[in-house]
Amino acid sequence: MIIDSHQHFVRLAKHPEVEGFRAAQLAGKNLDLPKISDADVTKSLEQVVSLMVSRNIDVAFASPRAKAMATHEGTVEQNAIWADLNNSLILRACKLIPGRFAPVGMLGQHPSCPSDQVAKQIERWAGEGFVAFNFDPDGTGGRWQNQPFTGKHNYPVFEAAQALDVPLVLHGSESINKNFPHTAVQYLVADITGFVQLMMAKDLFKDFPRLRFLIPHGGGALPCQTGRWRAIAKYNNWTSPDEILGNGNVFVDTCIYNDLNMQMLFDAVPLDNILFGSECDGAFPGVVNDETHDHYDNTRRYVDDSKLSAADKDRIYAANARRVYPRASRWLSSK
Ligand SMILES: [Zn+2]
Repeated sequence: MIIDSHQHFVRLAKHPEVEGFRAAQLAGKNLDLPKISDADVTKSLEQVVSLMVSRNIDVAFASPRAKAMATHEGTVEQNAIWADLNNSLILRACKLIPGRFAPVGMLGQHPSCPSDQVAKQIERWAGEGFVAFNFDPDGTGGRWQNQPFTGKHNYPVFEAAQALDVPLVLHGSESINKNFPHTAVQYLVADITGFVQLMMAKDLFKDFPRLRFLIPHGGGALPCQTGRWRAIAKYNNWTSPDEILGNGNVFVDTCIYNDLNMQMLFDAVPLDNILFGSECDGAFPGVVNDETHDHYDNTRRYVDDSKLSAADKDRIYAANARRVYPRASRWLSSK
């Protein structure tokens, strides 16, 4: 079995009714929730299902479009409604195409939102079968004005995630700063910041020993900066990158788009901490890699072409995802 642990239903999020609802909501208009037919939901997924079939990817863990989470905008109440709308669409899509997807949620984070409300949202959607949640370590649209996300102000969120056995995916969202385009910079800044804040957090994994974070996009700079982070951890008495990876609290995915950097990931990070992911086909749909003459986001190619053994590839393709996302088992057929 091959599980893609990192996918967004971008085409569904771009449905005019969905985008129109959010625009109207932010403009202060009181709109009814959009009514989208099952046929429209299914049609929005045709492309991604066809790519999954052609790449022999059995199941994907799918979440709302990351850029559109944008919970720095709006109010606490508006963002709760926005998150629930997106999660309900994800759930419908997963049910309409059974055996193909497992739902990953977004949260109505807002700089002024009490985290116990966010925790309640985790409880509600985990009860509906969600297997994980995207958690923006910034939440201020690229301004980075909040306290480090690992602080006690977020403990209700971590309590819920640990109790329900759902990992938190530290995924950035929209950036208000044009110097930091979201897919090219802000997401990677969120990866890097998320990982380093976990190294800096003194008590987090003492207080929540079973809490798990997934750092997407290959762990940000992890494949090429482990030496720097080992050094600064010793210098500042932070937890070393090897320790938080080795303790099973932090994982990364393979959303890396060439052979060279994929191999660096495999050399830098223990294989038990790496989950297959592709973001197909959200970040760069249809863009072709001149080295492979295939889409950049066909990350299966880079894993397949690596020197890893078949057993190691199996770990990355499915076994690690099953272990890190235990609630996904109900969505996985017996392929
Ligand atoms: Zn993503």
